[in-house]
Amino acid sequence: MQAMTADLLENPLVQRVLMAKMKTQQHRQSLKKEDAQQKSLRLERAGIPISKCPYGVCDGNGVILNSANENESASICKCVQDRVNKARYINANIPERFKMFTVNSFDCSLYDKKNDAILACNAKEAAIAYLTHFEENAERGEGLYLHSHTKGSGKTRLAISIGNAIMASYGKDVKFVRCLDLLSKVKESYREDSEYSECQILEEICNIPVLILDEIGVGNASDSDNKILTRIIENRGTNKKITILTSNCDIDELPYDERVISKLKEQARRIKMPEESVRDKVAEQRDRDFGKQVSLLE
Ligand SMILES: [Zn+2]
Repeated sequence: MQAMTADLLENPLVQRVLMAKMKTQQHRQSLKKEDAQQKSLRLERAGIPISKCPYGVCDGNGVILNSANENESASICKCVQDRVNKARYINANIPERFKMFTVNSFDCSLYDKKNDAILACNAKEAAIAYLTHFEENAERGEGLYLHSHTKGSGKTRLAISIGNAIMASYGKDVKFVRCLDLLSKVKESYREDSEYSECQILEEICNIPVLILDEIGVGNASDSDNKILTRIIENRGTNKKITILTSNCDIDELPYDERVISKLKEQARRIKMPEESVRDKVAEQRDRDFGKQVSLLE
């Protein structure tokens, strides 16, 4: 049994479970079959399906009722934290091929040129320093801007590794989004038959605690691109949300209005990445690591 922590109590999924449990408790004596089915549906909609507790501690819905004295209290089973973590990883939208990458496994020896190997090591050290002082950086709303002109030089790989570490070590929600996909999604919302409004998309993007915005600055920026990005970057900056960006341009070369560029300079610490593509080598390394895992199972 695990005591209810303040962090868990603030979690909306946990709050919904507790609400559902309280209601169930009130009607426990007269619980009908239909009520039980509805309760099960509510928990499933909250992303917490009723299932068997893997620890055999709760009855599967994550709440442990302590009724030793007259004041009945409740605590959260540790299986809830597992489910919250799992939901967090699913919602993060990390592409499959990047899911296992960590900052520690970022391999500077993959870069052949001496200068690129030095830049890679400096970038890795900067990522570790950023994560070590993450709580102070989060308070200031300070993000990162990983840039180099060469595609496949490890920017997305390192940005996602930082996101993976933030989820695992600091329990913050992270979301990975490609800049072009985000802009297209917002523009699609202008269509009459669109499922979502522009406001809904922007509100969701602005509220994500840690946003990885991949490949910002690709292509020519239209007026609407500038407006959309200005709203996102300004809103996230004002609310001290963290944005981790990757780009094939220096901040000053971005094809956006001065307003976006100056906000990015304020909000994101720049990390210069190597100018050498290691995409094929990273894929080979990943396949080798996967091969090792498979052989361990054989
Ligand atoms: Zn449990």
